[in-house]
Amino acid sequence: MTDEQIPGFSTRAIHAGQEADPATGAVVTPIYQVSTYKQDGVGALRTGLGTGYEYSRSGNPTRTSLETQLAALEQGAAGFAFASGLAAEDAILRALCRPGDHVVIPNDAYGGTYRLVKKVAEPWGVEHTPVDLADLDAVRGAVRPGRTRLVWLETPTNPLLTVGDIAAIAEIAHAAGALLVVDNTFATPYLQTPLTLGADLVVHSTTKYAGGHSDVVGGAVVVRDGDDGRGESLAERIGFHQNSMGAVPGPFDSWLVQRGLKTLAVRMERHCDNAERVVEFLQSHPRVTRILYPGLPEHRNHDVAARQMKRFGGMISFRTASVDDALAVCGATELFTLGESLGGVESLVEHPGKMTHASVAGSLLEVPDDLVRLSVGIEDADDLVADLAQALG
Ligand SMILES: *Cc1c(COP(=O)(O)O)cnc(C)c1O
Repeated sequence: MTDEQIPGFSTRAIHAGQEADPATGAVVTPIYQVSTYKQDGVGALRTGLGTGYEYSRSGNPTRTSLETQLAALEQGAAGFAFASGLAAEDAILRALCRPGDHVVIPNDAYGGTYRLVKKVAEPWGVEHTPVDLADLDAVRGAVRPGRTRLVWLETPTNPLLTVGDIAAIAEIAHAAGALLVVDNTFATPYLQTPLTLGADLVVHSTTKYAGGHSDVVGGAVVVRDGDDGRGESLAERIGFHQNSMGAVPGPFDSWLVQRGLKTLAVRMERHCDNAERVVEFLQSHPRVTRILYPGLPEHRNHDVAARQMKRFGGMISFRTASVDDALAVCGATELFTLGESLGGVESLVEHPGKMTHASVAGSLLEVPDDLVRLSVGIEDADDLVADLAQALG
């Protein structure tokens, strides 16, 4: 389907998978806090709208509603909700890889992704090559035709805001017989839809912008239609593993993410507006030595970001003169709360080297220690700028 043939983003966010409850007419999907379902005879599941359920690991109406909404927003064939972003990533790795396979990952991947690939997948027999995904020649050099099963692209990356060209990398991956996975956590489907650019799977930490209120941990996988390159349906592979490994979110967590997604478009517009104001301020500050934001013309892949993203998002990283400077800023903000995670309505500040990315310290993926990461929230931009001004001094 093309954009012209389907309802707009916010209409899908508010209506896809969210018909009035068939039992009561409730306008909002109820939290079906239930593990099992009455059968009208042995193996005779109820049929019709909102039915066909037998056990809530396999399927739960609140979760189905979220999964339908996720698939509609990413313009995929099927969506799958998980208990966390890492559970979603683990399902992809185990559903699609087998010992002997090879995976290409970003050399500045989210620390937890790197840990999963390095400490869990590698001992199981899946090799990996970290590569600079902003450099297409490097990606071409890293794929091993016939052996590389997945190219794992995060764009923009956490925390260095590196941008990879989704369409170009999809072509490289497919030519080598590999599938392209895109971690769309930072951009969200509001700013970019990787499946429409050639990606095979999209993965999310819904803990971040999708949930959007720092009150739930969750993950998601959305797949395109068609097969997995080894003769099976991608959707069936992921669905089978979701049920077999069981890392599913409960009904309340599913409901929270679903509620968050309804306002994603308006929140993202405001995150982007505020981030632009903060970038403008940081540019004028002498203690800031470098700003990493895809919206800046001097960003290494600004043209790619401008082509594949609607706007440039709410995440900003910046470098200072020293680790002490970076730590001092993190300790001095008042409105920007010092904490891990991102994508909530409230602004957060953190020191990736000692916090979110401590697990990659000493590895190839180590991040600079003078780096500060901001998750710019949706407060009033003037107050955010004033807070940074007092913290930077
Ligand atoms: C947080 C994050 C993850 C992991 O998700 P969890 O919900 O914390 O398990 C994966 N990728 C990116 C880009 C993230 O920011």
